[in-house]
Amino acid sequence: MRTDPLAYLSIELDTLKQQGLYRHLRILEGEQKPKTTFDHRQVVNLSSNNYLGLTTHPRLREAALAATRDLGVGSGSVRSIAGTMAIHMELERRLAVFKNTEAVVVFQSGFAANAGTVAAVLTKEDVVISDELNHASIIDGARLSRAAIKVFPHKDVAAARRILQDLPASQRKLLITDGVFSMDGDVGAIPDLCTLAEEFGCIMMVDDAHASGVFGKNGRGTIDHFGLHGRVDIQVGTLSKAVGALGGYVAGSRALIDFLYHRARPFLFSTSHPPATAAACIAAIDVLEQEPQIIDRLWDNTLFFKAGLRALGFNTGLSESPITPVIAGDGALAMKLSDRLFQEGVFAQGIAFPTVARDKARVRTIVTATHTRDDLQFALDVFAKVGRELGLI
Ligand SMILES: *Cc1c(COP(=O)(O)O)cnc(C)c1O
Repeated sequence: MRTDPLAYLSIELDTLKQQGLYRHLRILEGEQKPKTTFDHRQVVNLSSNNYLGLTTHPRLREAALAATRDLGVGSGSVRSIAGTMAIHMELERRLAVFKNTEAVVVFQSGFAANAGTVAAVLTKEDVVISDELNHASIIDGARLSRAAIKVFPHKDVAAARRILQDLPASQRKLLITDGVFSMDGDVGAIPDLCTLAEEFGCIMMVDDAHASGVFGKNGRGTIDHFGLHGRVDIQVGTLSKAVGALGGYVAGSRALIDFLYHRARPFLFSTSHPPATAAACIAAIDVLEQEPQIIDRLWDNTLFFKAGLRALGFNTGLSESPITPVIAGDGALAMKLSDRLFQEGVFAQGIAFPTVARDKARVRTIVTATHTRDDLQFALDVFAKVGRELGLI
């Protein structure tokens, strides 16, 4: 009999189990809501990216249903062959107006947008200068491009400058940062990096996945928040988080978008969104434009919850967004914290290496506009109880 060539995977999984890092998937029964049922337990949900509650917003739901009735469930092709529907073009036009750029291309996910774009615009002759905490999809795109990758310490603009000073002036350079960092909730050094990019002639790129729908006027993102219109060549946003549906997009010049239509591999080789997804995203733009008070509620809840965690004495890092980490340090301790919170009715996912540094394991909390004050106060009370029990406060 043949021995299992994948046996080493089971050995690795056993190691995770011994380290207390093995995770079962939590199963959501029903809709993605601020108070809901995971694994048969009613919990306050602090783990979703559904910042504005748009996953279940009536206008998005109705738009998706109508598009399905009128246009079917699938697009039937990749964008570059037969899968560009009028509704895809309408979404791109709406996003370009919303983002105040010449053009937008929509991808199947934020991951595909980042990886596809970085890989398309660079060659092996070029270099990427990247914040050490940038998202995995940026790192994968950089690897696929075969460009040299130079990593600077988190938000260390002086270090990025030293890297740039050592590079030949003629070499093509892409300077890239997340807008909001997904594990720490802090904001990238975007204004200073823009200045640096201009000084050294870099392409400037910002991944605004966690800022889309959260920062800037009507949720236009960090470029709008900082007043940097025209200074960021490639803006990536996601339609999967605050926008409540699924997808990613690149906003920039007409030439950039035309080039990605011809060269971005997820655009060329993977089927486009179902009409329902595009329709829901268009409805989400309407909501962002017409109901900005949802975003105000998100920020009110954010400030309330952050202040509560800080007052209890937790280490919440340097967050400036609705993402607030509660840093435990040790990986197994973070998982224990997450498990105890869950038993007491609060779902905050534990996150350990390799997603974050080995000594910075944490539970990550994300509040939404749709949490009530009672939900958040309940969560704070549970954090207080479990935090004391585990010696974190
Ligand atoms: C979530 C995330 C992505 C990926 O977006 P999806 O639409 O979920 O694929 C990309 N970049 C960052 C910084 C993210 O947090």
